[in-house]
Amino acid sequence: MRILIVEDECKTAAYLFKGLSENGFSVDTATQGEDGLHRALTQEYDLIVLDVMLPGRDGWTILGEIRKAGKQVPVLFLTARDAVADRVKGLELGADDYLVKPFAFSELLARVRSILRRGPTRQPETLQVADLDLDLIRHRATRRGQRLDLTPKEFALLSLMARRKGEVLSRTLIAEQVWQMNFDSDTNVVDVAVRRLRRKVDDPYASKLIQTVRGMGYRLEDP
Ligand code: CA
Repeated sequence: MRILIVEDECKTAAYLFKGLSENGFSVDTATQGEDGLHRALTQEYDLIVLDVMLPGRDGWTILGEIRKAGKQVPVLFLTARDAVADRVKGLELGADDYLVKPFAFSELLARVRSILRRGPTRQPETLQVADLDLDLIRHRATRRGQRLDLTPKEFALLSLMARRKGEVLSRTLIAEQVWQMNFDSDTNVVDVAVRRLRRKVDDPYASKLIQTVRGMGYRLEDP
């Protein structure tokens, strides 16, 4: 299990490094926010222990960037004061847990183990593209709060596009993912489905989210 510690106080960082290493974890430390963010975005960790008060980029900004990049790595926040507003802010930004300084190492270790036991990644429950919201648990799609009446396949197609928003998805890929068809099948079915989906998702609204990229495929994007 790999853990990244982002903590600017060298004594605390060294203490966490020693304790976690002795307990069998493979540990990297970053004492600068920038360095921590770079490691978090370019390497795979099972958990990040993130100090809130860092010079330059603070822990909140770093957590925001990590989540914006689509990384679901669990984050344990270290805060200097037990302020409710701080905790709420951290949890809203997608922290998994927090610990108030000063803390006993045994307490940190217990939190670390408990977060790791919950599993490696959390699947998102909702997706958002501009004013389009998808509830992946209830299989509901809304635009500006208005429910869209989609068939199960249309919902599957829309959620595939929303999960990979901004990316051009080829007809072949869409056919494989939504209809489990292989690439030599007739992908015209994709064009027909996209046309029907557009009627429900885009036609009634001024801003169009589904774009055709000529010769390549389709893309869902905030225009
Ligand atoms: Ca600090």
